[in-house]
Amino acid sequence: MAISDSLRQQVIDRAGYRCEYCKTSSRLTGSPLVMDHICPISQGGQDSADNLAAACYRCNEFKGARTGATDPQTQQFVPLFNPRRQQWREHFHWDNGGTQIIGITSIGRATIISLRLNNDNIVAARAIWTEFGWHPPKIN
Ligand SMILES: [Zn+2]
Repeated sequence: MAISDSLRQQVIDRAGYRCEYCKTSSRLTGSPLVMDHICPISQGGQDSADNLAAACYRCNEFKGARTGATDPQTQQFVPLFNPRRQQWREHFHWDNGGTQIIGITSIGRATIISLRLNNDNIVAARAIWTEFGWHPPKIN
């Protein structure tokens, strides 16, 4: 089943044109957000607003069909961050400069590693955006 244009727009509007994992603005990258299935279709996930998140291409690719990962600090296998059920700010913080995402919970740390939320390319872009005051977002 295809996701309708109106549902896609609803998900993107809800996300404020930001990836719901790394919080990168599609208006800064110029790359359209894609539809992430929080519960993958291969595991019974639906094309519903409640199971969809706006994601950048990179986060969506790294996430793939995964729903969990290992917290590097506790070695526990935990679920990935769920943008529909959880608040970003309760699992992640920006470092002082706004270039690095810090995981403050097992879910946060496991998601950062799994989706490579601090990969070199995005960190370099964030460093430029912070100079202009375009990043990090004021509301998470
Ligand atoms: Zn992202």
